[in-house]
Amino acid sequence: MNSLSDLENFNTIAVMGGTFDPIHYGHLVAAETVRQELDIEHVLFIPSGRPPHKQNKRVAGDEHRYLMTVLATADNPYFEVSRMEIDRPGMTYTIDTIKELRRLCKKDCKIYFITGADAASQIISWKNPQELTKLCTIVAVTRPGYDKSRIFYELMRADISPERFIFLEVPALAISSTDIRNRVGVDKSIRYLLSPAVEQYIQKFGLYKWQPYEESEPVIDEITKKLHYMLSPKRFTHTQGVAEESVKLAKTHGADEKKAYLAGLLHDCAKDYSSKEKLKMCDKYGIELDEILVNQTDLTHPFLGAEVAKDMFGVTDEEVLGAIRYHTTGRENMTKLEKIVYLADFFEPSRQYFDGINEIKQLAYKDLDAAVAYSLNNTIEYNQKKKRLIHPLSLRALEYYKDHLEKAEILLKGEE
Ligand code: ATP
Ligand code: MG
Repeated sequence: MNSLSDLENFNTIAVMGGTFDPIHYGHLVAAETVRQELDIEHVLFIPSGRPPHKQNKRVAGDEHRYLMTVLATADNPYFEVSRMEIDRPGMTYTIDTIKELRRLCKKDCKIYFITGADAASQIISWKNPQELTKLCTIVAVTRPGYDKSRIFYELMRADISPERFIFLEVPALAISSTDIRNRVGVDKSIRYLLSPAVEQYIQKFGLYKWQPYEESEPVIDEITKKLHYMLSPKRFTHTQGVAEESVKLAKTHGADEKKAYLAGLLHDCAKDYSSKEKLKMCDKYGIELDEILVNQTDLTHPFLGAEVAKDMFGVTDEEVLGAIRYHTTGRENMTKLEKIVYLADFFEPSRQYFDGINEIKQLAYKDLDAAVAYSLNNTIEYNQKKKRLIHPLSLRALEYYKDHLEKAEILLKGEE
């Protein structure tokens, strides 16, 4: 067997199985706590095999996962990593692994299988759960204060003896590999979540980076997940509000609903970068910094947003990019989609009240041009009062749409 130690030497061993994609302090703290509390002589980390068809680009290959697990466990004399599952062809079931260990270990060796409590409650759905729980004791690690009654209930229903389960509280349970992968994808720090050696390994091989999109259309689910990590919670909510409001407007005015959702979702994707980062990115993307953008760095976000949408989210549709690029300033002769996102941004449901919000919303569902004229006028007046410089695109836009102001007044009067 591909294990360094002779397993015959031990009276107690624990198995820590997982994908370890990547291995983190949650896994290590769990294994070490179990080892100490239950007085276990040897802990075997067994990275799981993964069927090749399941390997997409944001998942590390078997060798990477194996090597990261070795790096993370190398300094603990009780820990060892086994290649048994990754070297086994075909699907791997925990029951097969435990059976193999039973053959390799001393006859009366006690085998423990460590798993997160949430995974433990799924054991019922694994292959041969009853036999499994006869061959080994399951150690379910839980967050402090975790309610075990639900798992007990499920076990009883599946006719599995709760005596075969041990519950242990461990700290550090909030860490997960999924979270780490997502953080790497958007260049957020993963320091203190996993061992420095693994962190360096991830960097060295560029693991978990978002790949440029190869699909013809960006996937909304993936975009949403990524935005969740890039934006503050409030901005994230706002973003979803604009996406949904844009779809409603698109329905009303006969525009492409899919494009409206995508543009709404991404309109603020560059908004939460710091001023310093924004300026750096303007340089990178060749966005010219005029007097206004230098003084009001936040105003770069719609222009940067279009570049980020292209570069990091794989959006190629010029209509969608335009709706992102002009959602703050507006411009002359806007496309229907541009008007829709520009307007939805003002009154999506999570938006705070301001003078004119209800009027803009009423107009937006009746006449896009009147609504654009009204909100441009409103915004420019407001910013002039605040002594802010007005972007020339907005000034030209108002000039272009001002003939619709009268219509706006009439429509609003009709409402009264
Ligand atoms: P993913 O986010 O990809 O599901 P993961 O962080 O849950 O990954 P796995 O490799 O799936 O890691 O987990 C291996 C085992 O470790 C599982 O039994 C899981 O329940 C447990 N585990 C995962 N994270 C923690 C943690 N923070 N503390 C304790 N146990 C954990
Ligand atoms: Mg998991």
